Amino acid sequence: MSAEELFLGTDRGGATYREAMGGAVEAVLSAFADCGDPYSGTSPDALAAQFDDPVVPEDGQGLDATVDEVAEHVLAHSVDTSNPRCAAHLQCPPMIPGLVAETLLTAANQSLDSFDQAPAATVLEERVVDALCGLFDLPADADGVFTSGGTQSNFQALLLARDRYCDRHLGQNVQANGLPSGAGSLRILCSEEAHFTGEQAAHYLGLGERAVVTVPTDDDRRMDPDALDATLAELETRDAEPFALVGTAGTTDFGSVDPLGALAERADERGLWFHVDAAYGGALALSGEYGHILDGIGRADSIAVDFHKLFYQPISCGAFLLRDGDDFGWMARNAEYLNPEEHAEIGVPNLVAKSVQTTRRFDALKPYVAFRALGRTGLAKLVDRTLELADEAATLVDAAEDFELLHDPTLNAVVFRYLPHDGMDGGTVSRLNAAVRRELLRDGRAVVARTEVEGVTSLKFTLLNPTATLDDVAAMLDAIRDCGATVAGQREVAV
Ligand SMILES: *Cc1c(COP(=O)(O)O)cnc(C)c1O
Repeated sequence: MSAEELFLGTDRGGATYREAMGGAVEAVLSAFADCGDPYSGTSPDALAAQFDDPVVPEDGQGLDATVDEVAEHVLAHSVDTSNPRCAAHLQCPPMIPGLVAETLLTAANQSLDSFDQAPAATVLEERVVDALCGLFDLPADADGVFTSGGTQSNFQALLLARDRYCDRHLGQNVQANGLPSGAGSLRILCSEEAHFTGEQAAHYLGLGERAVVTVPTDDDRRMDPDALDATLAELETRDAEPFALVGTAGTTDFGSVDPLGALAERADERGLWFHVDAAYGGALALSGEYGHILDGIGRADSIAVDFHKLFYQPISCGAFLLRDGDDFGWMARNAEYLNPEEHAEIGVPNLVAKSVQTTRRFDALKPYVAFRALGRTGLAKLVDRTLELADEAATLVDAAEDFELLHDPTLNAVVFRYLPHDGMDGGTVSRLNAAVRRELLRDGRAVVARTEVEGVTSLKFTLLNPTATLDDVAAMLDAIRDCGATVAGQREVAV
């Protein structure tokens, strides 16, 4: 292909773009528009065998042939996230407004690390951030930035919390001088159901995973405030220095939401940075019916929210929100070529100093297009529908004699076990459910997650598709039963 055909900005480029994008859309539609099985069931070896041709051939085969190849070898063997029986992880069906926004933002290729690389995008990201701060009841001087997702947002929260604490209490500027000698006593508190990225961040921040102290949860798997008090009292006797409290709004396995108001109170009393990991559950803020579950989130010092989960936007898309925008100062720096100091004086917006990334995508366009196109009410309906289906699914699982429901869903996760016979011991249940999960992946009729609950392997639906119905859930249970029968017929699983 000639250069003129490869780039926008020429007539030939424009024509190629129109035709090639049309071809790409057709490839997507033929892979994902119908409601076949959510996975082809192909094994890793068989997948690898498809890619025997050299990845970098001497001469290219052209775009059309390559798109055909991708459709055949990649799309056809992808999990179909838009299929209502794809219900394993927090991997959402991407909504069409988000796919459209993705097309627009990749073509525009703005980079948010300086105003001159992204003029309108910079200003719009700031507007979207303001709207999000409002959605979560943060005060007027709140601020934020778009991130790759919860991992990055949680890391950034704990980075700022650590540096503020070290400056104010240990008299050390970490940005300039590294960790102070007392850093070994620093502690982060979160529930025992909190996401692993808290520990990961503690590692990256030079505090070590042991800096994370987990607090027991109640029967609903929410952090128990009394247990938090006991843990704080205990840490005091050991001269440990807790500096951050992480509340989770939507734990990975059960979707439970910590009592954020009670946690905010403790954080206030003790001068802890209160971070809410709402990567999963943040979308509840849209909902009139379920929004109250997040009560207290507006008291957070920082919030992580993901749009590539319950907001139905294409990966990746998250935001980090900060109660006091001045706290971004703990990580700010000036690079002469991007954001020289005189820019601040003349009011040029500067987002690079708020991000752990430099070159950065204009992901804010995705929630913007979704918000504008659907309004809060339109989006809330999708969230409400998904949560209702989880309740109905839990009732169905509970009523089935060969399944055991493990909790009442708070959000859209339903955790259960396949138990075809009475009196099976934990080891047998684990082996059976693990084998059923493997068989399901080969079978392809349902994509279901596995997890471990009290040491026993269990299964999980994460219902994220607003078009899914209870019939789809029933079909997934039938697929599990069939796979159970197949597995029982195989010798290695003694049932
Ligand atoms: C998904 C998730 C994360 C990790 O976020 P990424 O977007 O995958 O980086 C962290 N915490 C919670 C509670 C999550 O649900």
